[in-house]
Amino acid sequence: MVKLIYEKYLAGFGTTQIADYLSKHKIPIPSDYNKKKRGTKSLTYGLWQQSTVRFILSNEIYTGTVIQGKRKKVSFKSKKFIDLPEEDWVKVENMHEPIISKEDFERVKKIINSTKGSRTVKNDYLFKGLLRCYDCKGYIGIRSPDKNGNIYGRCQRYGRFGKFDVCSPHNFNYQVFEEQMLEVLRNVCKEYTNTKKLEEIAKQSKAKKSQELNIKKQIDSFKEEIEKETRKLEVMYDDRLAGIITLDEYIKNANRIKETVKGYEQNIKELEQELSCNSDKTKKESRLSNLIEEFLNMEKPTKEIIREFIEKIEIHSDKQVDIYFKFKPLQDLKNNFICAKKDYERKAK
Ligand SMILES: [Zn+2]
Repeated sequence: MVKLIYEKYLAGFGTTQIADYLSKHKIPIPSDYNKKKRGTKSLTYGLWQQSTVRFILSNEIYTGTVIQGKRKKVSFKSKKFIDLPEEDWVKVENMHEPIISKEDFERVKKIINSTKGSRTVKNDYLFKGLLRCYDCKGYIGIRSPDKNGNIYGRCQRYGRFGKFDVCSPHNFNYQVFEEQMLEVLRNVCKEYTNTKKLEEIAKQSKAKKSQELNIKKQIDSFKEEIEKETRKLEVMYDDRLAGIITLDEYIKNANRIKETVKGYEQNIKELEQELSCNSDKTKKESRLSNLIEEFLNMEKPTKEIIREFIEKIEIHSDKQVDIYFKFKPLQDLKNNFICAKKDYERKAK
């Protein structure tokens, strides 16, 4: 298989063409081969990626050379590794029977280096990386503008493996999508901040404050009880010393008091947990309010702020869109604004 890949590459086939050739001929991909040995199932459809072919084409091990010291630990304590420059690698030649000659390997290396950096120009789109295909859960790729300046989104897995009947296009006009999505986000945010909600939040926080005060009072009263019990114990100890009570009585009562104190301490612990839970919730809510205010004040929102409150957006094949917010209140609100279907289809801006 390795020989075949090198032969094809040197004969002028591209890495994608080679990957497709191997997929068509049902040659198991390396990770499937490894998983079969470990007995786990693969989610890769058994199809070859261009990157796997490229990895095999740049792995010197097939020439019989073993390389060590490609990476090193950042420090003695750390688990992190850093990549070292090629001149620092330790290469030991002729460690095993070569599959690929050194000459062929060098020829391949030259071709790979000459094609590096010539690939697609990267564009920075607002929702890039957040879009997923609802059906295969893979990424939605955003393509470069076509000759009319239209930008389309498409299931990446379909784009790459559609010819093997994997997934479906999920095509949509990205520019129209972005505009409408921003509109939906603004509406959800406005709904969250509108006066009714603010009133509700104010009421809630008032109720919350009195609830908090109540919990604190309960904690204090339990603390007082503990003090009382401790004093009882001291008095009993004096009584025992003075011979007023027997040892048996003392032990029996002391144990009872210790149990009571333990119970109070447990109550205090639970109440304190409740308090810290409440304050986490409040912090999260005020962070959300700040975030929304910032977002609504932006004429053109940034990628960063959108990622602050959106987890992912899934696109159905019929253009239905599911937004997943990172904050529950927004997640609960969004249904008011998203119609069942939006027409992102081939509609120019
Ligand atoms: Zn898909």
